[in-house]
Amino acid sequence: MNKNRIPSKFAPALLLALLCLPLAAVDDNPFLSPYNTPYGTPPFDRIQIGHYLPAVQEGIKRHQAEIDAIVANPKGATFENTVVALDMSGQLLGEVSAVFYSLLSAATSQPMQDLANELAPLFSTHNDNISLNDKLFARVKAVYDRRSKLKLDDVQRYMLENTYRGFVRSGALLDEKQKSRLREINKEHSLLALKFSDNVLAETNSSFIVIDNKEDLAGLPDGVIAEAAETGKAMDMEGKWVFTAQKTSWIPFLQYSPRRNLREALYTRWFMRGDRDNDKDNKAILQKLMVLREERYRLLGYKTPADFYLEPRMAKSPAAVNEFLMRLWKPALAQSRAEAAEMQKLIDEEKGGFALRSWDWWYYAEKLRKAKYDLDDSELRPYFKLENVQQGMFTLAEKLWGLKFVERKDIPVYDPDVRVAEVREGDGTLLGILYMDFFPRDNKQGGAWSGGFRGTFYKDGKRVIPFATLVGNFTKPTAGTPSLLSLDEALTSFHEFGHALNTLFTDSRYRSNFAPQDSVELPSQIMEHWVLEPEMLKLYARHFQTGEVIPAALVEKLRNSSLFNQGFETVEFLASCFLDMAWHQLENALNVNVSRFEKQVMDGIGLIPEILPRWSSTYFTHIHGGYEAGYYSYMWSEVLDCDAFEAFKETSLFDRKTAASFRRNILAKLGTEDAMTLYKRFRGREPKVEPLLKKRGLL
Ligand SMILES: [Zn+2]
Repeated sequence: MNKNRIPSKFAPALLLALLCLPLAAVDDNPFLSPYNTPYGTPPFDRIQIGHYLPAVQEGIKRHQAEIDAIVANPKGATFENTVVALDMSGQLLGEVSAVFYSLLSAATSQPMQDLANELAPLFSTHNDNISLNDKLFARVKAVYDRRSKLKLDDVQRYMLENTYRGFVRSGALLDEKQKSRLREINKEHSLLALKFSDNVLAETNSSFIVIDNKEDLAGLPDGVIAEAAETGKAMDMEGKWVFTAQKTSWIPFLQYSPRRNLREALYTRWFMRGDRDNDKDNKAILQKLMVLREERYRLLGYKTPADFYLEPRMAKSPAAVNEFLMRLWKPALAQSRAEAAEMQKLIDEEKGGFALRSWDWWYYAEKLRKAKYDLDDSELRPYFKLENVQQGMFTLAEKLWGLKFVERKDIPVYDPDVRVAEVREGDGTLLGILYMDFFPRDNKQGGAWSGGFRGTFYKDGKRVIPFATLVGNFTKPTAGTPSLLSLDEALTSFHEFGHALNTLFTDSRYRSNFAPQDSVELPSQIMEHWVLEPEMLKLYARHFQTGEVIPAALVEKLRNSSLFNQGFETVEFLASCFLDMAWHQLENALNVNVSRFEKQVMDGIGLIPEILPRWSSTYFTHIHGGYEAGYYSYMWSEVLDCDAFEAFKETSLFDRKTAASFRRNILAKLGTEDAMTLYKRFRGREPKVEPLLKKRGLL
């Protein structure tokens, strides 16, 4: 800041502020005054890295003052003056951290990562100061113990029970010595988890192959070559082609390149991330994380970390998850064996003279797909231009719920790539804001996700609108071609859009949301079901040059091929679920050798050597970022989404009544009442597993 620029009449107020805040950026911290942006959206055009720390410190200070006020209330504890007051506390901190952590994934930098390391212990200490605050807990407990006498509705009772449980699960019932150990564990754990994901990002960025011989590009589609050339250019290797450990880069290479040695080289770069015994190696970090989790949850009275994580979920126990996974595993494994045999036969017929290995799978799968269904992934891409897919999502939301999306160019964004739409109900009511950020950048984590800069709740009887995000790493446009998505990317796009709709539709009196982990993929995964329905394709899948709707024959081929390679897809996925569960069911990770343990678990379930788990231990970021003992959740949710989609099949694809019920019972309410109760309200019964098995050809 430049002190000399402060006009003297403002000096006293600023001086006061200076006493409470570090010097950096205090004169103009956008987080600390009204945003003055459309709808109060985050002022990205004014936020600088120096603003976060003072805003977080101020946020923590205000939050702590609110907590102190709840505790100091001379009146006895009531639902309103304790549970609701707690729910409404910490808004500034919530908003600052939502922005910071969204950008830490979508627009990161070394200073952002350093700052995250600096903030982690602040958050961890602050959270502990709340969750281990005896007097606060005593008030919550006082309300909880009287819960049957209070006249609470379902939503209030659910919030009370989960708030109470949250305290207990954070250690409120522990003695002082145990609590202080818990604080130490939390602090160390949060830093290590950050380090783990920083390492994965660094390893992803440094894992690539460079091709300087044109002949080595044989078999690759033009778009794939063009993108590799642009990647080369961006990396100061003009005239060369670079393939990276981003899925949009390595998967097409493995699918199309007949150069077996290069496939091996690239795939090895992908699956060795975090396991190279260099300074980004994650093995020791992972082990330490697991040891800390074991200690933490033993302190809290659980046998293993998995027991702790499963308790509030729909699945309830590790045993139930293991049984569920096994039920899918057996038919999937048998199917994958048959698929591998078919590929080996093809290799032998071509006199390849080698045994199928993991880096060959995509290539031979693509060949077989073409031979059996005359269907080539690159034949499909022209019909999935990004803009068309996006319009398809919007059309679907309009048909089901009457939503309207209007692009806004005046809402600040954190990167010029980001596009913003306001989302309105059919009657014009503003539902929320949607930020869309589709393309890979080297300051962005891989994968796709949906989050938000602000959740929704009611303030003075008025709904505060949510700001949802949809972030992906989709195939980029190149000089001559627009962004043409693979089918997988189109599905991902609809998926994340479903999460965003869930955020936008949420209609909750309170800010807290307690959606069980294994239910949260229901709103997203159900959207994927529409992508390939012929009625739906007609609405959006048009050729980017001719405008012709995807031909019926191609759709037919697509549908016929939808069961193709499902053994692989399911096995690759489930293998990671088993790995996740195995790590979290350990009772002594200290004695474990990371590589050997993974192999042991894979051997234990009989994984065939031609398939590797989708995520291996050293880059399995999900299980340190909210999906601990929870990767199975996607599959569990798939049971729900397959069963829920049947409700549309039973009526019609765009049935307004079914859509309204799905919105009212699930999308608007998930996390505010018991998930199974909500589901039963929508479907009239519990979900059945058969629609999932049928969809994957495993029945
Ligand atoms: Zn998802």
